[in-house]
Amino acid sequence: MATTTVPLRPREVMDKRGKAHTEYNRNYAREKRYEDWLRVNVGQTICQWKNGPHICGGLLTKKRGHLRCVWCMLKHAGLCRDCLAPVDGGPNALRCADCTRLARNAANDRYKRRNLDEILEAHRERNARWKRQGDPRYTAKLEYKRLWRDANPDKVRAYKTKDSKSQRAKDYQAARRERDGEKLAMRERLKKRGKLRPRKCLGKCGTIMIGRAKKCRACKLGKWLNAVETLGRRVQPKSRYREPRFALDWHGWG
Ligand SMILES: [Zn+2]
Ligand SMILES: [Zn+2]
Ligand SMILES: [Zn+2]
Repeated sequence: MATTTVPLRPREVMDKRGKAHTEYNRNYAREKRYEDWLRVNVGQTICQWKNGPHICGGLLTKKRGHLRCVWCMLKHAGLCRDCLAPVDGGPNALRCADCTRLARNAANDRYKRRNLDEILEAHRERNARWKRQGDPRYTAKLEYKRLWRDANPDKVRAYKTKDSKSQRAKDYQAARRERDGEKLAMRERLKKRGKLRPRKCLGKCGTIMIGRAKKCRACKLGKWLNAVETLGRRVQPKSRYREPRFALDWHGWG
């Protein structure tokens, strides 16, 4: 069978040439980009390529004599550097939405750990200012703390047990004995004679209390239920959260 070559029509010639040019330009740009990338990274162990204000931070490896950074490759491919899911955002995005949140949380934690004293000082100052100016946010904070204590009695108990061994607590107890010694002794005498008036539950339910507890069980449960319900309504669950498919250790770098 004889093969006949059909001459290309002008339009097809143009298309072919256009494609070739596009291909050529793309390769040229790719090489240029690699040269730029190499210029900052030659002789380095960690990728110095700038992603915005920060360096990439990936580990530089060699493959067939070519220097490369897996994180930069993932960025070009549009894949999350932590879990390989598609990135959330444009060509400069580094991570998927979930890993972005995790990375941001970790970065915030690192920042807090580094600047703990300054942050605590700033909080203290702000709180004092709110208190001075009668800001409703001050009372809201107290209210939230009270609800948290009501909702987490075991944590409060653990904290108090630990704190009771501190020197500060011992000093306080000593000062109290010094101050209220006479009153406490009187109570002891009344107790011995059986003349101590019965104590009522502090939850205003009128139950007579025996022992050291300040509130009856019913009042404690009511308090806990109220706190859990109020906080539950206030604290919104993070519905879109999911665990990364597999975790790579990025805590040290970016
Ligand atoms: Zn890199
Ligand atoms: Zn991810
Ligand atoms: Zn009660």
